[in-house]
Order: sequence, then structure tokens, then C-alpha cells
Amino acid sequence: MKGIIYLIFFSISWATFAQDFTLPELRFKYDAYEQGIDAKTMEIHHSKHHRGYVRKLNKAVSESKLQGKSLEDLLMYASDRTSAVRNNSGGHYNHTLFWEILTPTTDKSAPGVPSKSLQNAISKNFGSMDVLRKQLSVAAAKRFGSGWAWLVVTPNKELVVSSSPNQDNPIMDVSDVRGLPILGIDVWEHAYYLRYQNKRGDYLSAIWSLLDWGVVSEKYAAALNSPLLTKIEKENWPEKNTFHKVLAQIFHSAENGDLKPLRNMSGALYAQAILLQDSDVPKPILKPEVSLSLVRLEKKCGVLNRLVGKNAREKSLMKAVVAVHDIFHEVQGLCHD
Ligand code: MN
Repeated sequence: MKGIIYLIFFSISWATFAQDFTLPELRFKYDAYEQGIDAKTMEIHHSKHHRGYVRKLNKAVSESKLQGKSLEDLLMYASDRTSAVRNNSGGHYNHTLFWEILTPTTDKSAPGVPSKSLQNAISKNFGSMDVLRKQLSVAAAKRFGSGWAWLVVTPNKELVVSSSPNQDNPIMDVSDVRGLPILGIDVWEHAYYLRYQNKRGDYLSAIWSLLDWGVVSEKYAAALNSPLLTKIEKENWPEKNTFHKVLAQIFHSAENGDLKPLRNMSGALYAQAILLQDSDVPKPILKPEVSLSLVRLEKKCGVLNRLVGKNAREKSLMKAVVAVHDIFHEVQGLCHD
């Protein structure tokens, strides 16, 4: 009996432990980055700040009952998460990327070399490495308060520079620029204040000399074939997301017998259906079935709106809203296969 209790206890704690996010090791010792970042800053940044994000992330994930979700999944749907999950999942992801792309080197001119394909992409999208460097510096310098500057692979496989506030990043659905970051520069004061104080520009030059272009190239190659990038592209459909939000408000109340939101918002739903039908369908799901479903969705929303206008009976309103909901789920299903 005792054995079984121990076994159950062990399984539960193992399950909890197994899902926890953990602090990654640095590639080098804290004092190895001295040429650009002093050992004390590296130590505090990694062992205090990043460790704090990991600890708070595990707490926030367990409080939100999101255990078992991947880090990418937490990031992707940041708009649906609590601010604790959003900030700390970003904090963990962003710092992990940051440590990976930094390398100490005595040869400041060539800390790793960009692969041929990354070089070509940089030439194509920026003109030259110098222009990329300038854009990153501007993005980092202009970021008001705390945040990050990014080099991002967009869903259409282009490279762009962007920046985001706090611990947000381009994977998040709250981000203006969506895609996979392959290089990130931490511009929180905690990243540079001890040596550089308010001179963010000097810190940015120092970071430039620590970048490991070999690792950035590997990340570039991986991003081009990443299922996560395709997922971001599919989800990057604002008209569908807005329609979904309006429909959710109407449908869930209707299911619970409250038709007031439906009566108030059938016009708004119809307007969103028209916008959705007119919108650019993301490339990976651009197929005839999707377009046909969107046409049917628009028609059905029109019918629903007219029924509301005619003060139709509850039964016919319910039938019509269920039909709208079903068609929308067809579209969702076509997005996910
Ligand atoms: Mn930081």
C-alpha cells in the first residue's frame, strides 16, 4: 500500500516536473564575453533575470492550467493568455535565443560567417550587411523603454527588421510583424547598464561584435522549413480572427438561451462576413473549398441578419446561427488540415 502511494506521489511529481520549463546553460562561461559584455552583467542577466522568467512562467502556466503546451503555442496565442504567461513565455524564449547567437571571439571581423543563402537573402532584402546593421541599430535605439530588436523570417520567406516592446516577439499574434526571429537583441537596461549605463548605442556596437553568424545562418535555414512559420502564416488572417470574435460573442450566448447579442450584432456579423469573403486568404490555405465556404458564410450571415430584421421566431434564428457556426467551422477545419 505504502509502495503504491509512493508510486502515485512519484508519478504526480514527475509529471509536474516533466512539463516544467528549465533555464538553459550558456554556451560559454560568464567571463568569456568580456570584450562586449562584462561577466557580472552576463551572470545577473542569465542567473537572475532569465531564471526569474522561467520560474514565473512555470507558475503562470500552472495557474492558467496550460501545462503541457509548448512554448511556441503559448507565444502564438499570446492575445488569449494572461499577461504573466505572455511576458514570461516571451522572456524565456527571447533570452534562450539571445544566448544562442552570442559568441566570444578574438577575431572581431568574423564571428562566424553567414551562410551563402543567408548572405544572398541579406543582399536581396537589405542591399548589404551594413544596411542590415544600420536598420537593426535604429530599431534597437528607437525602441522606447524596454524591448527587443529582431531579424525576422516572414511567412513569405523574406527577411525584415522589427522591434517589439517588453518581452513580446514576432511569433506572438499581438505582434505587428509576424514571423520567426533568427536574431534578437535585448535592449532592456538590465542587458547593458553596468558597463554602458545610458549609452545604448555603444552596447549595440558591442553586441554586433559578439554575434555568431554561423548560428544565425542555421536558424535561417531552419526557419525556412519550419512548420511553425507555416502555422503563423495560416493564423495571420485578421479578417478571420475578427469574424471569429464577433461570432463567438453571439453564438455562446445563443447556446445558453440568450439571443440578445445575436439581435444586436447580426448586422456587424454580416459586415465582417463580407470583409472576410473579400480578404486575402493566406497562401497555405488558398484553395477553392475555402473560397466557396466563405461565399456560403456571407450568404448565410445575410439571411441571419434579415431574419433578425424581420423579428423572426427564436427557433429560426437559432437554426440560422447554428448554420453560420457550422460553415465557419468548415473554414477553420480547412485551415488546419
Ligand atoms: Mn534581458
